[in-house]
Amino acid sequence: MAEAYDPGNIFAKILRGEIPSHRVYEDDAVVAFMDVMPQGTGHTLVVPKAPSRNMLDADPATFGPLFTVVQKVAVAVKKAFNADGVTIMQFNEPASGQTVYHLHVHVVPRFEGVPLKPHSGQMEKPEVLAENAGKIRAALAG
Ligand code: 5GP
Repeated sequence: MAEAYDPGNIFAKILRGEIPSHRVYEDDAVVAFMDVMPQGTGHTLVVPKAPSRNMLDADPATFGPLFTVVQKVAVAVKKAFNADGVTIMQFNEPASGQTVYHLHVHVVPRFEGVPLKPHSGQMEKPEVLAENAGKIRAALAG
């Protein structure tokens, strides 16, 4: 049986504003912010406000608004960093690599010949995350 959603998870705390994040986007249903251990420059997480562990227990009504924002953010990061492509990733339960148990989608700008860094690897400097968030917000603004 699937484990229950834990409202104490780190993304629930970020959504409630209890811990800081570098936000690039927010609407009624979805928030997007910088991943603190980016697998590439501009690695952004897109997170629905509705609570679920992952895709397996989510209300299907979550996916329309969520993936609408995933597309917006993917287009914005490609523009913001002049990327060659964008990798979209999403993990479900520990065996898949999931480490934070609130549904989220990874959006990672990609550059020809540059491999992804390890998942949940090294912490990025806050000033770099802030600068990259500013570039993405500017690209989202048009
Ligand atoms: P998962 O493995 O669950 O798909 O991805 C969780 C992601 O959250 C990882 O890429 C990790 O770097 C990121 N992460 C972990 N803790 C924090 C945090 O406190 N703030 C932010 N912004 N990202 C986090």
